[in-house]
Amino acid sequence: MNDKENIKRLHELEDIINKLNYEYYTLDTPSVSDSEYDRLMQELMRLEEMYKDEASLNSPTKRVGGKINESFKKITHELPMLSLSNVFTEEDIINFHNRIKKENITAPKYVCELKIDGLSVSLKYVKGKLLYAATRGDGVVGEDITDNVKTIKTIPLSLKEKIDIEVRGEIYISKKTLQKLNEERIKDGLEPFKNARNLASGSIRQLDSSIAAKRNLDVFIYHLPNPLDYGIKTHYEALEFMKNLGFVTNPNNRLVSGVEGILDYIAEKTNERKDLAYDIDGVVIKLNNILDQMKLGSTVKYPKWATAYKFPPEEVVTKLKDIIFTVGRTGQVTPNAILEPVNVMGSTISKTTLHNEDYVKEKDIRVGDYVVIVKAGDVIPRVEAVKYDRRTEDLKEFTMIKNCPICNQPLVKKDSNYYCLNPKCDAKHIESLIHFASKGAMDISGFGERIVEDMYNLGFIKRIPDFYHLEKYANELMLLEGFGQKSIQNLLNEVEESKKNSLERLLFALGIRHVGLKTATILARKFIDMDSLINASFEDLNNIPDIGSIIAKSLKEYFSLDENLKLIQELKDLGLNMKYLGKVIENAKIKDKSFVITGTLNIKRDELKDMIITNGGKVIESVSRKTDYLVLGENPGSKYDKAKLLNIPILSEQEILEMLDN
Ligand code: NAD
Repeated sequence: MNDKENIKRLHELEDIINKLNYEYYTLDTPSVSDSEYDRLMQELMRLEEMYKDEASLNSPTKRVGGKINESFKKITHELPMLSLSNVFTEEDIINFHNRIKKENITAPKYVCELKIDGLSVSLKYVKGKLLYAATRGDGVVGEDITDNVKTIKTIPLSLKEKIDIEVRGEIYISKKTLQKLNEERIKDGLEPFKNARNLASGSIRQLDSSIAAKRNLDVFIYHLPNPLDYGIKTHYEALEFMKNLGFVTNPNNRLVSGVEGILDYIAEKTNERKDLAYDIDGVVIKLNNILDQMKLGSTVKYPKWATAYKFPPEEVVTKLKDIIFTVGRTGQVTPNAILEPVNVMGSTISKTTLHNEDYVKEKDIRVGDYVVIVKAGDVIPRVEAVKYDRRTEDLKEFTMIKNCPICNQPLVKKDSNYYCLNPKCDAKHIESLIHFASKGAMDISGFGERIVEDMYNLGFIKRIPDFYHLEKYANELMLLEGFGQKSIQNLLNEVEESKKNSLERLLFALGIRHVGLKTATILARKFIDMDSLINASFEDLNNIPDIGSIIAKSLKEYFSLDENLKLIQELKDLGLNMKYLGKVIENAKIKDKSFVITGTLNIKRDELKDMIITNGGKVIESVSRKTDYLVLGENPGSKYDKAKLLNIPILSEQEILEMLDN
């Protein structure tokens, strides 16, 4: 690239990194991986080195962290809270060591520490009592998070000595807590948290401290800003001193000599990383002697006496033992990889989806291959690539199966996917029964996956209408583990109650391809009852905003099959409601407008959502440029920041209610 292009790239990188910083530090929702971010930052640093006069005064290479959230009280740090420079290779570490030796520091000793992947906190104590806690913020001013920090059990509210002191450390969330919270979120149909760092940061930067209290946050203390005030001359002594005051320091901290000591520590911790209870993203290397630290000083962004070695992104390789096929409730047949069990960032993975035929063929994945596994967004593992160099024998090319693995009916290809269209296929059946009773669909509580599967195998529920004939089996149900008279009665009551559900729930519960709850609600509002929907033409459907030809075609296909019409008639005869129960008002102010709701409202959130939908509006989960309004409650989340950034009009609870009144 020529100079002009390089300079253009330099400014482009500043903009990209500023945007990534905002997403990461302010919104806690990064859109790229940390290694990708580090790669961009290195590229910018290289270009700034080449074109020193071009770097903006406010370049992200010169600033710590991101903007602070204006909803918090601000706290100005007595001494700036800096970031750390990064090193990635052995050569970088040797250069770091040589720079220190150049300052006439012979045989330097270092403290090596784990780089905990959380967010830093400053804790201020007066006469041994916690006065305040603050985030790093932009390094000079942080956010007051005292109330949230008080919910962390490992942060002492009073110290063993009545002294005035500031200490700094890292707040984090364990891998186990992240996994548990994500399992619950997935069950509730919510997006899982991307990683422990963003969850920790998102939890502590909440205005409502009851949220932080539920998140099981923890802390390690690693820095004493004014050691000389306490007669302390080395960092290692400072760690001991803080431990004796009642703070939790990390048991892996180690005093080492020279480069060898650092490299041994890194090798050891790279191996142990996966067994730790919390995420780390590297190792921090700190010069031990405080007077030597002062001799080296700091830049505006980081101290010159410390650096962070960053682990390379984890690439896990394992053998693909087999490819098996599963059938979902819509009949979609998916290839899945059966793997030699392998640990990816703390969880053992032995199976993962291969999506569809195209995915497998594009990557030329074959049984017997060694494959690279990554956790996409750190949650769902996927096969990223094949290690072709390790393919020594002749492996058979992948071929998609032609018949359903369960009922043997020929499969039909639509777009990139294959489907079993046999409505009597067992696999489809269990899945579709589980879906029918699930939350968001008919929501018949008590019918978890296991129970539905047991009832299917015992022959109690073979088809959807069987849910409504269960009382026939009341005595036999007693034989099922965990069932007593009372729980059976509760189950039957729930089944009865579900008959009253509004039309959109039933529509969604039927499992029509491409009809999620949102689409079902749009259809129910528009057609009010099942018969009108059944009789709607392709054009009627296709003309509805947000429906489109794919959904219209799928609906027409579904209602063209006799057995589906018979099923609906049977459910009608059993007394299931076939009408939309919400009001329908054509409200010009709201019609087709999209709303995002954040924070706590006086009115129940679901109630407000229903009101917006019945007035012709849409409620969406995340803020984008297309959002028309943000409805702002108390203690809003990061959606508020994003809306402000995008200049989305903001409505108070009263304002939205007034709009709905018209
Ligand atoms: P950093 O995370 O590289 O290092 C500094 C921080 O390390 C300190 O502020 C402290 O919080 C933490 N730390 C953990 N253990 C420590 C210990 N034992 N001693 C001292 N400090 C310790 O720097 P940063 O400025 O906080 O963030 C930059 C990094 O954040 C990037 O390198 C990247 O990994 C990530 N990031 C990612 C994105 C993204 O979009 N994915 C955006 C911005 C930043």
